[in-house]
Amino acid sequence: MEPTRSNRPSSLGDSLARLQRSAGITGTAPAKCLAHGDYIANKLRDDVLSGCPECARQRLAEQEAIDRTEQQRLAVAAKLERQLGQALIPLRFKTKTFANYRAETEAQRLALTICRGYAADFPEHAGAGRCLLLLGHVGNGKTHLAAAIAAEVVEQHRRNVLYTTVARVCQQVKASYGKEAEQSEREALEIFRTPDLLILDEVGASYGTDFERMVMFEVVNARYEDVKPTIVISNLAAPALSGALGDRTVDRLREGGGLAAVFDWASARREVDRG
Ligand SMILES: [Zn+2]
Repeated sequence: MEPTRSNRPSSLGDSLARLQRSAGITGTAPAKCLAHGDYIANKLRDDVLSGCPECARQRLAEQEAIDRTEQQRLAVAAKLERQLGQALIPLRFKTKTFANYRAETEAQRLALTICRGYAADFPEHAGAGRCLLLLGHVGNGKTHLAAAIAAEVVEQHRRNVLYTTVARVCQQVKASYGKEAEQSEREALEIFRTPDLLILDEVGASYGTDFERMVMFEVVNARYEDVKPTIVISNLAAPALSGALGDRTVDRLREGGGLAAVFDWASARREVDRG
């Protein structure tokens, strides 16, 4: 008995034809691309021909390149985010920028201009190992502007920054003295020597023991020898700073045309957004 059409085993050609028909392809036809020349096009419904496969391949490659660039951009952004995180800037200063620093008086505008300039010209200052002192009353936004400098140095100049306090540096060094210390004094000091920019906050907040002065000199001098700048933040005025840090250290900070911004207006601590 002759097999009926429906149960006859179909050839590969039949399957392909069925597949093409279900995809709307009714046949093939020679076609020409202005860029790539002759190709065999698929004939679609209403005699529309499929596009040049080489053009399609190129479009795909271009899209993949765009996707890769976007992925790289995201990776760079994530790295910056990590670096800024590693700068250990206190959380409440993470959102402090030059734009949201309130400069209403002449003195405040001058402080802002000095800090903004320091950030903008950081590569030049770094090359000269030029330090910056931010001195003056509590609550006048010294740490705010230092955080803004840190963000710009990381984001615009791609350098790394470490923010720390005198107390933390001293702790780190002290911790290296014990018998079970995880690192040597040299290694502890290395942490503060390595960053492209070190921001040293709360200088003179305590009485300034000989130990503190010794540690501060070690840190500032090591950076001086490496021609790396340090930003010092202190509530003290310049003369008292020498007492807290020691003359040798202050001399090092002034080498190479060290800059200073003075925040000596009446405290604005009542404004919670200042640091
Ligand atoms: Zn083409």
